[in-house]
Amino acid sequence: MDKTVFGTDRAWIEINVGNLRHNAEVLRDEVPSGCELMAVVKAQAYGHGAVLTATQLNRVGVRAFAVATIDEGIELREGGVGGEILILGYTGVGRASELKEYDIMQTLISHEYAEALNDQGIAVKTHIKVDTGMHRLGIPAGELSGIRDIFFMENLEVCGMFTHLCCADSRKPEDVRFTREQIDRFYKLADDLRDSGISIPKLHIQSSYGLLNYPGLACGYVRAGIALYGVPSTPKDDTILKLDLRPVLSLKSRVVLIRLVKKGDGVGYGRSFTASRDTRIAILPVGYGDGFPRSLSDGKGHVLIGRHVVPIAGRICMDQLAVDVTDVEDVSVGDVATLIGAEGYHELSAPSVADSSGSISNELLCRMGARLPVIAK
Ligand SMILES: *Cc1c(COP(=O)(O)O)cnc(C)c1O
Repeated sequence: MDKTVFGTDRAWIEINVGNLRHNAEVLRDEVPSGCELMAVVKAQAYGHGAVLTATQLNRVGVRAFAVATIDEGIELREGGVGGEILILGYTGVGRASELKEYDIMQTLISHEYAEALNDQGIAVKTHIKVDTGMHRLGIPAGELSGIRDIFFMENLEVCGMFTHLCCADSRKPEDVRFTREQIDRFYKLADDLRDSGISIPKLHIQSSYGLLNYPGLACGYVRAGIALYGVPSTPKDDTILKLDLRPVLSLKSRVVLIRLVKKGDGVGYGRSFTASRDTRIAILPVGYGDGFPRSLSDGKGHVLIGRHVVPIAGRICMDQLAVDVTDVEDVSVGDVATLIGAEGYHELSAPSVADSSGSISNELLCRMGARLPVIAK
């Protein structure tokens, strides 16, 4: 089933393809020459639809993609996506033949992992992950001989080497100092490898905030996720580069029922909304099962209907939520409601909605990737 042509009857994600392409162009203009944009499309491209997003990016010349899992990589290939695909996370070594079959590159998360993958006896393309201080995945930057070893493993073609910055979004002096140290450790390792006769593969360090706060690093790729989708992680984020990035995703639903609730009656689970007056309630068939955060219950969240901003009434359910439309006259069944996005003069931006829910745009967006149809506009 092609999700992109299906239904605006219940709830859906709308993708502004023009803004997606615009963001890709803006980011590409910022990376130094010789450095390529690697579009991070894990978790259904942060809820934007992985195949749709990667296909559109392919059309504007983006030729490198990153995913979190092998199944995400296979989905892209089966959807016709060309170019390079790198798995940033772990893959069981028993799946080496699929890496080869689908031409997907695998991150080497440790020296032991590299040995185990090499032992499968299947030629695979890889990138070495180096731990420069985040202490998540990767081989410690100080283990020169262990890293050097990998270049001689018979079945592993080393196409890249990368690290990940853990404080790149912060402008605090101690975080900037730590980030500079991470960058220096990584380049020192590359220099030492070069001095020992290794020919250095493509290097990469920066994700979105790495590019926005540490522009101009000499690298082979920049791995951009959230910036490509045109929003900051939080509303207050300040960055060195201020780029004209535009939000790509809107979350929409439709009023399917309007009911009158008498003063004193409750609405929803726990009756946490109790009508303080005779109240008009509109029901939207969208809920936390679609990724809309339950923590926005009881008036913490709002939705846009036409020209109006209306509060969420009571608890958000898995598949439904209620809004209080008592104060707005012209709301009828069939009207479109915007839960994330702009409508007229109003905007409920992903960072502000995420912030009200106690999270960041990245989590809010990627949780919407499971059930909602994605419509390109
Ligand atoms: C998710 C991820 C990215 C993309 O991060 P953004 O902040 O969304 O740009 C880059 N690199 C790695 C290793 C990741 O896991």
